[in-house]
This record gives sequence, C-alpha cells and structure tokens, in this order.
Amino acid sequence: MAAQNAETIVLNSVPFSNTSQIATLYTREFGKFSALAKGSRREKNPFDNGLDYMARLKTTHYVRSQGLQLLTQASLQRWFRVDRNNPGALFAGYYIVELIDSFTAEFDPSAELFDLTDETLADLTAGKEVWRTLTRFNWQMLRIIGIAPQWDVCVCCGKKRTRQTGWAFGLIDGGVVCPNCKPGRIRLVLISHAVLDIARQFADPKHNLWRRLKAADNHRKELRRLTDLYIAHNLGWAPKMQRYSQLFI
Ligand SMILES: [Zn+2]
Repeated sequence: MAAQNAETIVLNSVPFSNTSQIATLYTREFGKFSALAKGSRREKNPFDNGLDYMARLKTTHYVRSQGLQLLTQASLQRWFRVDRNNPGALFAGYYIVELIDSFTAEFDPSAELFDLTDETLADLTAGKEVWRTLTRFNWQMLRIIGIAPQWDVCVCCGKKRTRQTGWAFGLIDGGVVCPNCKPGRIRLVLISHAVLDIARQFADPKHNLWRRLKAADNHRKELRRLTDLYIAHNLGWAPKMQRYSQLFI
C-alpha cells in the first residue's frame, strides 16, 4: 500500500461503528472516493475533527485497489461556516456538494473543477453574495464537465443572436434557438436577451469581472430558473437542493 497526500473537500460523512466514520471525499488529485477513517469519532484523533460537510482538508490516505480507501490523517484548512442569518449561503453549499457528487465519477479528477469548488465554498464562507457566487459556479462547472451551451448563435441554423424577440433556450439542443427554428422543437425555455447576456458572462472562462456583474431581481429569478432547468435536464433529475432555489436569487 502506498500513502498519498491530497487536497480534499468533504462531501459527506457517516458514522461507522462507535469510533469511526466513512467519508466521501472530493480531492484535487484523485477525484471523488470513499474512505474509512478509523478512530475519527474518538476525542483524540488524527483528523483534526475535520470530517464534516464541506470542510477543506489536507489528507493522507492509503490506496487500496478495491473498496474503501483508508484515511490515515487529515489537517483542517477551513471549516464551511456561514452566518446563521444567511440560509442561502448554507443551502448553496449543500447544492454545490450535491452537484459535485452527482456529476463526477469516482477517481476521475479535474484540478480545474476542484479549484472552482474550493474557491466557491471559500467565497460563501466569506459572506460573498450568494446569487453571484452560485451562478458563476453553476455555469463554470457545466463548462468544465463539457456541456457549456451555445449563447451567441442559433444551435440549429447558426444565425447570430440579435435583439429580435422570440429567441428561446433549448435544453436538449444546448443553447439558444432562433424564432425560425423554434417550430417543432421541444423543451424550449423562453428567456430574455438580457438574461442570456448575463448568463453568457458567468459562463465565459475569460470573464474575470464576474464579481461585479449586476442583475435586476426579475433577471436573477429568470437566470436561476434557466440554470436549474439546464442542470436538471443534463443530470436527468432535479437535484434535491433546487427546492431552496428561491434563496439563491
Ligand atoms: Zn435558427
């Protein structure tokens, strides 16, 4: 067995016997995996008492070819602790964990997705605005996993998007659909150009001014709806945490 170090975010942990836990870990180096942490529930333990939801750790585990990995050590880098009066930040954190758990396979690492997740959870912990932080995470995540939509030209005919009314977003098509191509297509979401323009900026990897993006309340609502629908469509089901989406606007 070889010991491996990793940068780690805890996705979940459940008790296993009176003294141990099984944790689902999301790591920069190895992707997602489950690990047994022997003795983690003892008062003195080598895990900094850190096997808690969304905690950021540095970990050491022994690699086993089958079944659970064996976590031997962890040092806590950051708790996920948000203001009690800000349930949106807490539930946004749970939503992010649910998405990472749903969209990633075991042992399929992406440093870029890990860094995005890490930065987003740090922003929420620091009290950054929830709608902006979560929206940026959502569209960047979709890009990294390879399902970035087309915002600027009709996915069916290639026509450049103009301010003309009647454009829609095709969930199946994965992007905007012009009025001419709409007939006969299904799962279209009617959406304003203003919201398409905002979403496009959140989705752009080179757009580094996203922290300053502004949107009116009704546009945020529309954007959240589009974001949730596109995620649910690609996942094949609606994530549980979408029932709290009104807190993310
Ligand atoms: Zn078209």
